[in-house]
Amino acid sequence: MLKKQLNITYEEYNSDNELPLQLQNLVQQARKISEQAYAPYSRFRVGAAVLLSDNTVVLGNNQENASYPEGLCAERVAVFAAMANHAETNIKAIAICSNPMDFETNVPLSPCGACRQVLAEYEHKSNQHITILLCSLKGHIILINSVKDMLPFHFSAENLSE
Ligand SMILES: [Zn+2]
Repeated sequence: MLKKQLNITYEEYNSDNELPLQLQNLVQQARKISEQAYAPYSRFRVGAAVLLSDNTVVLGNNQENASYPEGLCAERVAVFAAMANHAETNIKAIAICSNPMDFETNVPLSPCGACRQVLAEYEHKSNQHITILLCSLKGHIILINSVKDMLPFHFSAENLSE
């Protein structure tokens, strides 16, 4: 038996202003698009802003459905739209911001496992780290340097062949 340990490093910020300008803008766009989320059932609005390698920004928000499982998280709405329309680019960063309708929080949103898996696919495809910014409305931000840090042991194309 061999015991191993994984360590991750991440950064915490208390306001947007502490980030580089391009990432500040990304966070603000994620916050703004969260206002247009369709979340009548959870009342938990989320916005996502994807920054591509050509500096295009693609936005998404959660889209819910009366048939609950048919809805989709903001992260996947944004990432799939980005990759559908800009297939030749890579994802450099994604900012994700929660905007609950019924309470206030300064705890940054954390993406679900399915969204982490989707992000891992594109990080693997491009072989370049995707920076992830988890943001509250009030300005508390966590910056993670790679999807691998959020989803160690993720399933990838390498698992599909010998
Ligand atoms: Zn999700």
